[in-house]
Amino acid sequence: MTERGLSLLVTLRSEAQPHVSRVVPARRGTAVRVRAGQVFRVTDPYGGQVGDLFAFVDDGARRLTSYLSSAHTRGHTSRLFPAVGEDFVTAARTPVLGLLDDTSPGRHDMLIPACDPERYRLLGAREHRSCVANVHEALAELDLVVDAVPQPVNLFMNIPVGADGALSWLPAPSRRGDSVTFVSHLDTVVVLSACPQDLVGINAGAPTDLVLDVLDRP
Ligand SMILES: [Zn+2]
Repeated sequence: MTERGLSLLVTLRSEAQPHVSRVVPARRGTAVRVRAGQVFRVTDPYGGQVGDLFAFVDDGARRLTSYLSSAHTRGHTSRLFPAVGEDFVTAARTPVLGLLDDTSPGRHDMLIPACDPERYRLLGAREHRSCVANVHEALAELDLVVDAVPQPVNLFMNIPVGADGALSWLPAPSRRGDSVTFVSHLDTVVVLSACPQDLVGINAGAPTDLVLDVLDRP
Protein backbone atom coordinates (compact mmCIF):
# COMPACT_ATOMS: atom_id res chain seq x y z
CA MET A 1 0.00 0.00 0.00
CA THR A 2 1.18 3.52 -0.75
CA GLU A 3 1.84 6.12 1.95
CA ARG A 4 -1.07 8.09 0.54
CA GLY A 5 -3.30 5.04 0.87
CA LEU A 6 -2.22 4.51 4.46
CA SER A 7 -2.79 8.15 5.39
CA LEU A 8 -6.26 8.04 3.82
CA LEU A 9 -7.10 4.97 5.86
CA VAL A 10 -5.86 6.55 9.06
CA THR A 11 -8.03 9.56 8.30
CA LEU A 12 -11.19 7.63 7.57
CA ARG A 13 -10.77 5.36 10.54
CA SER A 14 -10.18 8.17 13.02
CA GLU A 15 -12.36 11.10 12.09
CA ALA A 16 -14.14 11.00 8.75
CA GLN A 17 -17.89 10.64 8.67
CA PRO A 18 -19.43 9.06 5.59
CA HIS A 19 -20.64 11.62 3.06
CA VAL A 20 -22.82 8.98 1.44
CA SER A 21 -24.00 5.86 3.22
CA ARG A 22 -26.36 3.70 1.29
CA VAL A 23 -27.91 0.35 2.07
CA VAL A 24 -28.20 -1.67 -1.12
CA PRO A 25 -31.18 -3.96 -0.53
CA ALA A 26 -30.83 -7.63 -1.38
CA ARG A 27 -31.25 -8.22 -5.13
CA ARG A 28 -31.00 -4.50 -5.94
CA GLY A 29 -28.34 -2.09 -7.14
CA THR A 30 -27.25 1.49 -6.63
CA ALA A 31 -25.12 4.04 -8.48
CA VAL A 32 -23.17 6.89 -6.90
CA ARG A 33 -20.75 9.48 -8.25
CA VAL A 34 -17.29 9.25 -6.69
CA ARG A 35 -14.77 12.02 -7.34
CA ALA A 36 -11.07 11.52 -8.04
CA GLY A 37 -9.30 10.99 -4.73
CA GLN A 38 -12.39 9.91 -2.83
CA VAL A 39 -12.48 6.69 -0.89
CA PHE A 40 -15.43 4.31 -0.81
CA ARG A 41 -16.13 1.13 1.07
CA VAL A 42 -18.36 -1.86 0.41
CA THR A 43 -19.51 -3.74 3.51
CA ASP A 44 -21.22 -7.12 3.72
CA PRO A 45 -23.18 -6.63 6.98
CA TYR A 46 -24.54 -10.19 7.23
CA GLY A 47 -21.74 -12.11 5.47
CA GLY A 48 -21.85 -14.47 2.54
CA GLN A 49 -23.13 -11.97 -0.02
CA VAL A 50 -21.63 -11.28 -3.45
CA GLY A 51 -21.50 -7.67 -4.66
CA ASP A 52 -20.97 -6.94 -8.34
CA LEU A 53 -18.87 -3.77 -8.52
CA PHE A 54 -18.57 -1.56 -11.61
CA ALA A 55 -16.69 1.71 -12.06
CA PHE A 56 -17.45 3.87 -15.09
CA VAL A 57 -15.38 6.93 -16.00
CA ASP A 58 -17.58 9.98 -15.42
CA ASP A 59 -16.63 12.27 -18.32
CA GLY A 60 -19.83 14.29 -18.30
CA ALA A 61 -21.50 12.35 -21.10
CA ARG A 62 -24.83 10.62 -20.57
CA ARG A 63 -23.61 7.47 -22.32
CA LEU A 64 -20.75 5.89 -20.35
CA THR A 65 -18.13 4.32 -22.62
CA SER A 66 -15.01 3.84 -20.47
CA TYR A 67 -14.97 1.60 -17.44
CA LEU A 68 -13.01 -0.71 -15.18
CA SER A 69 -12.04 -3.74 -17.24
CA SER A 70 -11.49 -6.93 -15.28
CA ALA A 71 -9.73 -8.51 -18.26
CA HIS A 72 -7.26 -5.65 -18.65
CA THR A 73 -6.76 -5.58 -14.88
CA ARG A 74 -5.75 -9.25 -14.90
CA GLY A 75 -3.16 -8.41 -17.56
CA HIS A 76 -2.03 -5.34 -15.62
CA THR A 77 -1.51 -7.16 -12.32
CA SER A 78 -0.68 -10.64 -13.66
CA ARG A 79 -3.19 -12.02 -11.20
CA LEU A 80 -6.60 -13.67 -11.45
CA PHE A 81 -7.92 -11.95 -8.33
CA PRO A 82 -7.28 -8.48 -6.88
CA ALA A 83 -4.91 -7.82 -3.98
CA VAL A 84 -4.53 -4.86 -1.59
CA GLY A 85 -2.22 -2.24 -3.07
CA GLU A 86 -3.11 -3.02 -6.67
CA ASP A 87 -4.98 -0.88 -9.17
CA PHE A 88 -7.86 -1.72 -11.47
CA VAL A 89 -7.52 -0.34 -15.01
CA THR A 90 -9.70 0.53 -17.99
CA ALA A 91 -9.39 -0.95 -21.48
CA ALA A 92 -6.99 1.97 -22.16
CA ARG A 93 -4.82 0.67 -19.26
CA THR A 94 -5.62 3.76 -17.18
CA PRO A 95 -5.83 3.16 -13.41
CA VAL A 96 -9.40 3.85 -12.32
CA LEU A 97 -9.61 2.35 -8.80
CA GLY A 98 -7.08 1.27 -6.20
CA LEU A 99 -7.68 -1.44 -3.59
CA LEU A 100 -6.76 0.11 -0.20
CA ASP A 101 -7.98 -2.34 2.39
CA ASP A 102 -9.78 -5.66 2.70
CA THR A 103 -10.98 -7.25 5.94
CA SER A 104 -12.54 -10.25 4.16
CA PRO A 105 -10.75 -13.52 3.32
CA GLY A 106 -9.75 -11.71 0.15
CA ARG A 107 -11.42 -13.62 -2.65
CA HIS A 108 -13.03 -11.36 -5.26
CA ASP A 109 -13.79 -12.95 -8.59
CA MET A 110 -12.70 -11.30 -11.84
CA LEU A 111 -13.62 -14.17 -14.19
CA ILE A 112 -17.40 -14.41 -14.18
CA PRO A 113 -19.77 -11.99 -15.98
CA ALA A 114 -22.70 -10.33 -14.25
CA CYS A 115 -25.80 -12.50 -14.00
CA ASP A 116 -28.46 -11.64 -16.57
CA PRO A 117 -32.00 -12.76 -17.44
CA GLU A 118 -30.75 -15.40 -19.88
CA ARG A 119 -28.52 -16.92 -17.20
CA TYR A 120 -31.62 -17.42 -15.03
CA ARG A 121 -33.70 -18.75 -17.90
CA LEU A 122 -31.02 -21.39 -18.48
CA LEU A 123 -31.30 -22.24 -14.77
CA GLY A 124 -35.07 -22.65 -15.13
CA ALA A 125 -36.35 -19.30 -13.84
CA ARG A 126 -38.55 -17.37 -16.25
CA GLU A 127 -38.60 -14.15 -14.24
CA HIS A 128 -35.67 -13.26 -11.98
CA ARG A 129 -33.84 -10.12 -10.98
CA SER A 130 -30.26 -9.86 -12.26
CA CYS A 131 -27.13 -7.77 -11.80
CA VAL A 132 -27.32 -6.67 -15.45
CA ALA A 133 -30.82 -5.28 -14.90
CA ASN A 134 -29.66 -3.71 -11.62
CA VAL A 135 -26.89 -1.81 -13.44
CA HIS A 136 -29.26 -0.38 -16.03
CA GLU A 137 -31.82 0.56 -13.36
CA ALA A 138 -29.24 2.17 -11.07
CA LEU A 139 -27.67 4.21 -13.89
CA ALA A 140 -31.11 5.32 -15.08
CA GLU A 141 -31.62 6.93 -11.65
CA LEU A 142 -28.75 9.27 -12.59
CA ASP A 143 -30.02 9.59 -16.18
CA LEU A 144 -27.02 7.61 -17.43
CA VAL A 145 -26.84 4.73 -19.92
CA VAL A 146 -24.43 2.06 -21.12
CA ASP A 147 -24.59 0.06 -24.33
CA ALA A 148 -23.42 -3.11 -22.60
CA VAL A 149 -22.77 -4.06 -18.99
CA PRO A 150 -19.06 -4.82 -18.50
CA GLN A 151 -17.66 -7.74 -16.59
CA PRO A 152 -17.66 -6.69 -12.92
CA VAL A 153 -15.33 -7.23 -10.02
CA ASN A 154 -17.42 -9.71 -8.05
CA LEU A 155 -16.69 -8.76 -4.46
CA PHE A 156 -16.62 -11.65 -1.96
CA MET A 157 -17.38 -14.15 -4.77
CA ASN A 158 -15.29 -17.29 -4.47
CA ILE A 159 -14.64 -19.02 -7.79
CA PRO A 160 -11.42 -21.00 -7.37
CA VAL A 161 -9.66 -22.36 -10.42
CA GLY A 162 -8.67 -26.03 -10.22
CA ALA A 163 -5.35 -27.36 -11.47
CA ASP A 164 -7.23 -28.73 -14.49
CA GLY A 165 -8.76 -25.31 -15.17
CA ALA A 166 -12.21 -26.19 -13.81
CA LEU A 167 -14.11 -23.48 -11.94
CA SER A 168 -15.99 -24.10 -8.68
CA TRP A 169 -18.93 -21.96 -7.55
CA LEU A 170 -18.45 -21.72 -3.79
CA PRO A 171 -20.35 -19.70 -1.16
CA ALA A 172 -18.99 -16.22 -0.52
CA PRO A 173 -16.57 -16.53 2.44
CA SER A 174 -17.15 -12.98 3.74
CA ARG A 175 -18.08 -12.77 7.43
CA ARG A 176 -20.50 -10.37 9.08
CA GLY A 177 -19.17 -6.84 8.69
CA ASP A 178 -16.33 -7.63 6.31
CA SER A 179 -15.52 -4.75 4.00
CA VAL A 180 -13.39 -3.74 1.05
CA THR A 181 -12.11 -0.16 0.66
CA PHE A 182 -11.16 1.54 -2.61
CA VAL A 183 -9.81 4.89 -3.75
CA SER A 184 -11.11 6.28 -7.00
CA HIS A 185 -8.27 7.60 -9.17
CA LEU A 186 -10.69 9.33 -11.58
CA ASP A 187 -14.13 10.89 -11.43
CA THR A 188 -16.30 7.81 -11.63
CA VAL A 189 -19.81 6.47 -11.39
CA VAL A 190 -19.62 3.45 -9.09
CA VAL A 191 -22.37 0.85 -9.34
CA LEU A 192 -22.86 -1.88 -6.76
CA SER A 193 -25.33 -4.73 -7.22
CA ALA A 194 -26.26 -7.02 -4.33
CA CYS A 195 -26.31 -10.14 -6.52
CA PRO A 196 -29.74 -11.83 -6.58
CA GLN A 197 -28.33 -15.25 -7.43
CA ASP A 198 -30.25 -17.83 -5.38
CA LEU A 199 -30.20 -20.75 -7.82
CA VAL A 200 -26.44 -21.31 -7.56
CA GLY A 201 -24.97 -21.36 -4.05
CA ILE A 202 -22.60 -18.38 -4.26
CA ASN A 203 -24.60 -16.28 -1.80
CA ALA A 204 -24.34 -18.64 1.17
CA GLY A 205 -28.04 -19.27 1.62
CA ALA A 206 -30.12 -16.32 0.53
CA PRO A 207 -29.27 -12.91 -0.96
CA THR A 208 -28.87 -10.16 1.64
CA ASP A 209 -28.16 -6.43 1.75
CA LEU A 210 -24.84 -4.69 1.17
CA VAL A 211 -23.73 -1.22 2.28
CA LEU A 212 -21.88 1.35 0.17
CA ASP A 213 -20.17 4.27 1.96
CA VAL A 214 -18.35 7.13 0.26
CA LEU A 215 -15.94 8.26 2.95
CA ASP A 216 -13.76 11.10 1.87
CA ARG A 217 -13.63 14.11 -0.41
CA PRO A 218 -10.54 15.63 -1.99
ZN1 LIG B 1 -25.53 -11.29 -10.00
